[in-house]
Amino acid sequence: MKKFVMIHNENLCIGCQACSVACRNENKVPDDVYRLQVHIKMSGTFPHLKSDYTRHSCVMCEDSPCVSVCPTGASFKTENGITLIDDRLCVSCKYCILACPYDARFVDPITKAIGKCTFCYENRLLEGKEPACVSVCPTDALVFGDALDQNSEVSKLIAKKSIEYPKAYLNTKPRLGFIKNTKGGRYE
Ligand code: SF4
Ligand code: SF4
Ligand code: SF4
Repeated sequence: MKKFVMIHNENLCIGCQACSVACRNENKVPDDVYRLQVHIKMSGTFPHLKSDYTRHSCVMCEDSPCVSVCPTGASFKTENGITLIDDRLCVSCKYCILACPYDARFVDPITKAIGKCTFCYENRLLEGKEPACVSVCPTDALVFGDALDQNSEVSKLIAKKSIEYPKAYLNTKPRLGFIKNTKGGRYE
């Protein structure tokens, strides 16, 4: 039994989008839809600009609205807490897309299947590899691992840093957390 968690350290992120490109390549995500984007927000006035980088993808809610509303069981949780979709059971009602408070799901324009981040479960995790986005990040802004293993990098990070969770007030208990940018941006 594992509890997979991902942390995005916004202090280390440089907004390069290597993660989203790697995700697209690894998971054959078509143009016009995405499993992952890093949103870039600029503020301030030149030359005192501030840049914030936030990750937008499925947050792997422990209490997933997408799973609760699915009428066929196509949206389900693995024992490791990863929310997945069984295409064979999906009837394309799109309830899950409407129910997701993180706008993380989409209809694949080619296959018409429902898509979202899977933490690269079938294609990488089951082979003992870390998710594609994590593996390419040049600044180690993404940390992934088993939060039940006290010696894992992700456990040590959680113990050391203040981790925040997107829309925590919804109580969906995300397993994608972030370390808020406190450095004032790279260009300030
Ligand atoms: S690859 Fe790393 S540094 Fe680049 S945008 Fe993604 S998380 Fe940020
Ligand atoms: S972020 Fe959306 S798609 Fe992901 S588990 Fe939560 S409700 Fe489901
Ligand atoms: S974990 Fe995999 S599917 Fe999810 S954003 Fe990263 S590369 Fe894409």
